[in-house]
Amino acid sequence: MSPVEWASRVAKEFEYNQQDVRQATRHFIKQMEEGLERDGATMNQIPSYVTAVPDGTETGLYLAVDLGGTNLRICSVNLHGDSTFSITQSKVAIPVSIITARYFSELFAYIAEQINIFLQHHHENLLQKYQDSKDSSPGHIQKRLLLGLTFSFTFEQQALNRGTLLRWTKGFNIPDAVGQDISAVFQTEIDKLNLPVLVVALVNDTVGALLARSYTSPGRTKTLLGAIFGTGTNGAYVEKMHNITKLIRSGKFAEGEMVINTEWGAFDDELLVLPTTPYDLAVDTESVHPGIQMYEKRISGMYLGEILRHTILALVSTTTSIDVPLDSKLNQQFAIDSSFLSMAAADDSTDLSMLRKQLNVSFNINASRELAEAVKILAVAIGDRAARLAGVAIAAIVLKSGRLSVSGCDEPSKPGGTPQPRNENHAGKPISTSLGRSHEKIDGQDIIDIGVDGSLFEFYPGFEDGIRSTLKDIDGIGYEGAKRIRFGLARDGSGVGAALVARMAEQES
Ligand code: ADP
Repeated sequence: MSPVEWASRVAKEFEYNQQDVRQATRHFIKQMEEGLERDGATMNQIPSYVTAVPDGTETGLYLAVDLGGTNLRICSVNLHGDSTFSITQSKVAIPVSIITARYFSELFAYIAEQINIFLQHHHENLLQKYQDSKDSSPGHIQKRLLLGLTFSFTFEQQALNRGTLLRWTKGFNIPDAVGQDISAVFQTEIDKLNLPVLVVALVNDTVGALLARSYTSPGRTKTLLGAIFGTGTNGAYVEKMHNITKLIRSGKFAEGEMVINTEWGAFDDELLVLPTTPYDLAVDTESVHPGIQMYEKRISGMYLGEILRHTILALVSTTTSIDVPLDSKLNQQFAIDSSFLSMAAADDSTDLSMLRKQLNVSFNINASRELAEAVKILAVAIGDRAARLAGVAIAAIVLKSGRLSVSGCDEPSKPGGTPQPRNENHAGKPISTSLGRSHEKIDGQDIIDIGVDGSLFEFYPGFEDGIRSTLKDIDGIGYEGAKRIRFGLARDGSGVGAALVARMAEQES
């Protein structure tokens, strides 16, 4: 069998048909509901305590700190109140000694010092004013700058500004941190430096993406969902409070709506509906945490290159005609970045010159046109399946929100949608409609706005088209429903989103 024939056959294993997406979407809604009902479900569905999304009229100057990976970002965000903002930021790589420090306080002592440097550099006048006001009239201290911390690790949230770390990921390892009140430790270190800064909000990055998009969304349309398709994948959406049973039981909330961080990377970790090829299995087995984040392992930037690498290795093993040197990087885990898939998918030249060049430069493989074509077939199959799968999460959330069944004239847009009460709580009383209402219309019907962040969505050719193809396949959305769904990039989500939550905390206090 020729490489192209082999690749075409394997590509079929990555096809994800209409029946598959329908079944997966139903299962996704089921797992969303289970997560809202109880702790410890497959999808965590973590309440964010954010009970309003912005409409672009918000104003003020706030600080934001983004701690999510190898870099630490510190920003001051000025919200202008007209859907625009200006942002000043600095970025530093976090030293390994801090990432694996003995005490949690060491991490925040480092961050506080970086804030100090940032303020001295960019907001010296504020520092001075604060110092002066303290010296002259101790009773009238200059108002402190409010800070939102974007903390992209799994934490359990107890209030807008309170959360405890559940576990570290991404190479962080400070055992002392688990179970500690993140904001409190942070504030203690800020106070030691006598900085005019108050930590008022703890934000997950997807919640930040949702809020940032909602602030900048055209036509002041409030956003339903913030989704990330980058190194990992996750989403946060607006849920009706009466559906968040686990929170209602606590007696704290009854009405209105709240943003939920789904942690959808773990969707169907049981593998009841997700497609699983031998290549998916290989990627999972070799991963640091086998058996978890199964949805993420089929969709996100961290893993797509790995899936492709395993298919190419399998292709090579079928023939002696492809020469892969023993020391080729192709034999190393994570040697293929997902940007390679984008490049392969975008190479439309007749002789696939770019792809062949990359195979040579990156993997020392002297690729014939035929081999390059086979690699392209595999890359496109893997990338397109990821996009179709990404559409499942979006379809499920759109359906569950019930927003498609409410058109501009309150008529169902299409039969078959999941019926959801829209403006009523369990007792049939009207509830607050302050969250996520959209007023912009397409063909007289409300737009459903979705904010997306992440290089995969931004750069993989046709990722949005793949998502849309899923949406069209779903009963209750279809072609007409998909037309009403608008995607927009949620830029600077971790900075602007954290600033917006800091503002929210200020309004609530
Ligand atoms: P974050 O780490 O915050 O998610 P990004 O959104 O930039 O940052 O996502 C990084 C991921 O995106 C990496 O896994 C990288 O492989 C992938 N990526 C970067 N550029 C591209 C591209 N052109 N096409 C597809 N994936 C890309």
